[in-house]
Amino acid sequence: MFENLTGRLSDVIKTLKGEARLTESNIQKALREVRLALLEADVALPVVKDLIARVKEKAIGHEVMSSLTPGQAFVGVVHQELISIMGGEKEDLNLSTTPPAVILMAGLQGAGKTTSSGKLAKWLIEQKKKKVLLVSCDIYRPAAIHQLELLATQTGADFFPVQNGQKPGEIGAAALDYARKHHHDVLIVDTAGRLGIDEAMMNEISELETLLNPIETLFVVDAMQGQDAVNTAKAFSEALPLTGVVLTKLDGDARGGAALSVKHVTGKPIKFTGIAEKLTGLETFHPDRMASRILG
Ligand code: GDP
Repeated sequence: MFENLTGRLSDVIKTLKGEARLTESNIQKALREVRLALLEADVALPVVKDLIARVKEKAIGHEVMSSLTPGQAFVGVVHQELISIMGGEKEDLNLSTTPPAVILMAGLQGAGKTTSSGKLAKWLIEQKKKKVLLVSCDIYRPAAIHQLELLATQTGADFFPVQNGQKPGEIGAAALDYARKHHHDVLIVDTAGRLGIDEAMMNEISELETLLNPIETLFVVDAMQGQDAVNTAKAFSEALPLTGVVLTKLDGDARGGAALSVKHVTGKPIKFTGIAEKLTGLETFHPDRMASRILG
C-alpha cells in the first residue's frame, strides 16, 4: 500500500534540492507528483483537489528552517495536510451513555460487518473490560447469524438468539431489553447488508437506528473497494446519522486511498481499521500514524 506515493514523494525531495525557499514555481513539479500519487492510490478526485490546494497554500512562502532542506519542508507540509484530511486527532469510540451503549454496524454485504462486530466485542471485553452482548438482525442470511454466534463464543461475548419469523426491529428491541435486564455495558447490533445500495436495506437500518438510538453508528467499508468505497460512504452517510467508520481489509492489496477519502466524504472519523481476518486484526485509527505510513 502507498508504495507509489512514498516513492514519488522521495523524488519530490530531490527536485527541490538547492532551493532556498518554496515558491509557486518550484513546487509545481512536486505538487504534480503528489497529485498523481494520490490518484494512483485511489483517493477520490475532490479529495485530491482539496489536499493539493491546501498543500499549495501552506507551502508557498514557507520559510525553510535552516535544519531542513526545502524538500523536507514540503514533505512536512504534505504530512500535516494528510493528517488534517483524515480528521486530525484520533477519535475514540464513544460509550458515554447510560448502559447498554448500543453500537449499530452498517455497510454492504461482504464489507466485514460481522467480522468487525466480533473484533469489536473482543476489544471491548479485553481492553475496556466491558460486558458485551452481540445480536444479528440479518434475517436473510442464517449463516451470518450463525457466524456471529461463533464469534461470540470465541470472544467471550454473550449472544442474543433470533426466534423464527422475527423482524429486524423486533430482534433489536428484544436484544436491547435483554441487555438492560442482564446489565450488559455494550450491545453490538450487526445488520443485513446488500450487494449494492438498496432502498429496502436503507429503510430497514434507518428504522433500527431510530428504534435503538445507538451511541455509535459505525459504517463498515472495505478498503479494497477503492473509489466505490467513496460512493457507498456517501450513500450511507446521507441515509444514516453515522458517528464513525471502520475501514476493513487494509491488510490486502488495497491502494489505501479510501483512508484519505472517507472522512472527507462522510465528515465522520475512521475509528478502527481491520488489518487481518482474525479476531485480533482490529486497530484504533491514528491519523498521524497513517500519514507517517503513507510517507514511508
Ligand atoms: P459482512 O457481510 O459485512 O458481515 O462481512 P463479513 O464479516 O462476513 O466479512 C466478509 C469477508 O471479509 C470474510 O471472509 C472476512 O473474513 C473478511 N474480512 C473482514 N474483515 C477483514 C480484514 O480486516 N482483513 C481481511 N483480510 N479480511 C477481512
